[in-house]
Amino acid sequence: MGDLVNPSESTYDVVVVGAGIVGAACAHFLMKEGLRVAVLERGIVGGGATAAAMGHLVAMDDSPAQLALTKFSLELWNELEDQLPASVEYRQPGTLWIASDDEEMAEVRRKYEVYRSVGLACEVLDSAALAEAEPKLRRPLAGALRVLGDGVIHPQAAAQFLLRGVAERGTVFTDCTAVSIDGSTVLFGDRTRVSAGHIVNAAGCAAPELTPGIAMRKRKGHLILTDCYPGFLRHQVVELGYLKSAHSVTADSVAFNVQPRATGQILIGSSRQYENEDAAVDHGIVRRMMERASEYMPEVATLSVLRAWTGFRAATADRLPLIGPSPANPKVLLATGHEGLGITTSTGTGRLISDTILQKKSPIPREPYLPSRMTR
Ligand SMILES: Cc1cc2nc3c(=O)[nH]c(=O)nc-3n(C[C@H](O)[C@H](O)[C@H](O)COP(=O)(O)OP(=O)(O)OC[C@H]3O[C@@H](n4cnc5c(N)ncnc54)[C@H](O)[C@@H]3O)c2cc1C
Repeated sequence: MGDLVNPSESTYDVVVVGAGIVGAACAHFLMKEGLRVAVLERGIVGGGATAAAMGHLVAMDDSPAQLALTKFSLELWNELEDQLPASVEYRQPGTLWIASDDEEMAEVRRKYEVYRSVGLACEVLDSAALAEAEPKLRRPLAGALRVLGDGVIHPQAAAQFLLRGVAERGTVFTDCTAVSIDGSTVLFGDRTRVSAGHIVNAAGCAAPELTPGIAMRKRKGHLILTDCYPGFLRHQVVELGYLKSAHSVTADSVAFNVQPRATGQILIGSSRQYENEDAAVDHGIVRRMMERASEYMPEVATLSVLRAWTGFRAATADRLPLIGPSPANPKVLLATGHEGLGITTSTGTGRLISDTILQKKSPIPREPYLPSRMTR
């Protein structure tokens, strides 16, 4: 990886711009089908939003299409499990969606029915069962939905893993910035170019710079990492109010979301902010995140924090990613707009992109994610 060979010297079936987890997954599934793939990355593999993410692999049901893509993607992660190196830290602690009152308990039951209807293993925990499942939570809480198949990975290591095989049938070019796409040719600043049958624009938040007209907004997020506290936490634990935070389109929002890392460290999320493109850590937001987490899990306030960082989610108006041909140029396939679910849905995205290029039927309908929906 990282060879600085001029990409124009070779010919490829597909050029993928962006080596975040989404571009890496696209390259992985294309390469598995025997295609020659070049991946162009202006920085390092997985160094964008991917490096900033929590790595929660999670089924979500904002819409049937979101549920279909997250479920399909989780199945693909499961299929990869045996191949994942230890560095990816793949585990399945499951998710606890916490209800603090009767209204949220009704949402737990609704979610339970929806998840069960599509075959996702889950169970409703009452107040006592929740206290037993996650002893550090404040008591009493109303209950929770436990989703058993949800997982956790190290996102940047996962992106590196997905690109491993690409070297056999192509190349990953790091430190390589695409400045524009013309037809099925990617142009670079030094006037060199590379052409392919198809170009995949997986440049994350920067995708509109290469495909003008994509309607996306940057949504800033913060994460906090603690020192090692083995056994402190068993599940990924998320307040149901997280969904309100994720759905908010205006205000800054903060929600309780904690994750046990394989190292024994705890990742504490999460925040969402529009209209703020400054990557600096906002200590007011960090304080609000710690306070929110301590409301649900009082001992969090005593944990030693090692660092906090930020990243930007690429958000579309309907909270679904853009996967498929660009309406302006069908030789360019978009694979972006994954907001807070791109680690989870990278695998599904990679498979749908590969099926599109090879004109194969996909295991789930591709229609809901087509970029053309934005121009209707
Ligand atoms: C705080 C936070 C927490 C999150 N937690 C989770 C989570 O728990 N679970 C989950 O599923 N998702 C999570 N997400 C969302 C997830 O991080 C993103 O959806 C995902 O990383 C998007 O991947 P990507 O490959 O599209 O983008 P990126 O990782 O940003 O990759 C795009 C790549 O394209 C490169 N690039 C851009 N322009 C060019 C160019 N012109 N030429 C060459 N290369 C270019 C960039 O350098 C970058 O490496 C979180 C996001 C944030 C911010």
